[in-house]
Amino acid sequence: MRIVLSSPLTDQEYYLKALAKFCPYADIRLWDAVKETSWQAEYALVWKPDNGLFLHQKELKAIFNLGAGIDALEKLPDLPKDTPLYKLRDAGMGQWMLEYILYGMIHFGRHFDRYQQYQSERRWQPELTTSLQEKSIGILGLGPLGQFVGDQLRQLGYNVAGWSRSAKKELSFDQFNGYENLDHFLSRSHFLVNLLPAKDETYHLLSEDRLMSLPRGAVVISVGRGSVIDEHALLVQLQTRHLRGALLDVFEHEPLSKEHPFWQQDNIVMTPHMAAPTQYEDAIKQILADILDIELDQGYRFL
Ligand code: NAP
Repeated sequence: MRIVLSSPLTDQEYYLKALAKFCPYADIRLWDAVKETSWQAEYALVWKPDNGLFLHQKELKAIFNLGAGIDALEKLPDLPKDTPLYKLRDAGMGQWMLEYILYGMIHFGRHFDRYQQYQSERRWQPELTTSLQEKSIGILGLGPLGQFVGDQLRQLGYNVAGWSRSAKKELSFDQFNGYENLDHFLSRSHFLVNLLPAKDETYHLLSEDRLMSLPRGAVVISVGRGSVIDEHALLVQLQTRHLRGALLDVFEHEPLSKEHPFWQQDNIVMTPHMAAPTQYEDAIKQILADILDIELDQGYRFL
């Protein structure tokens, strides 16, 4: 089996070592080492690769994206249209997402932002609060991460609902499907979690009107893709205090420019796209299992 790896922004050595350990008979090479040669791989493992890889590698049976978001990859002009593209499905990231979302719920729902301010003023000021279990959490996007997070929050006793275009089977929580039910879903979401990908159809899905349809005092937690939210509209809703706060990990343009008004907004907490980093070991396990499935489907026999 021949594998080419191009993931210049991550620890390529880790992937090389892990692949060599679990696939000792595979011929695994870094893209940089083969780009001037005629060597052809069967599988490509990539994260933000050089576009030249797809111009050069013409025998790929599948492409594996070393992350859950494929928007950057889909923008590469030479990405082959007829080669199956696999993305990471949870692969250990769900637990990280869950912790991040719980942090946002607790930070704003239990008023830790205010206590931080009071502490700086040496002020003893208890805040009245309702139990987080009395609030509704809305998971916008029911891919592998949305389903995992919704299920875990439900198991922790929270009131969860999800939204996606198509109905999902065997969810442990309520779901709303289709654009005709989106506004109703939003109107009951005290904590709205954006877990949608960047697509033409999801661009600014959370428009001014839709953000206004959230209950007064709602909190937005954005961990899918930033382009789903109209950032100007979000800022206005935070400034007018229609929204209680926002925990943002993803933005329409990353890295966020130093001039962006989000930096100055007191009820925004921001992180630099690190809510759920790729878990290398889980990623390798999933990719190798997928390769095995492909090989078996294509008639490979062990004996
Ligand atoms: P995903 O496969 O990226 O997205 C699945 C969801 O998106 C489903 O609800 C699907 O609806 C919906 N969807 C797909 N295309 C759509 C379209 N054209 N219009 C409307 N809805 C569409 O899910 P995931 O793997 O769980 O990932 C969720 C997001 O988290 C991704 O954007 C990923 O990049 C991001 N992410 C962020 C981090 C981080 O650190 N911040 C880490 C990992 C992942 P249907 O199923 O009904 O079609």
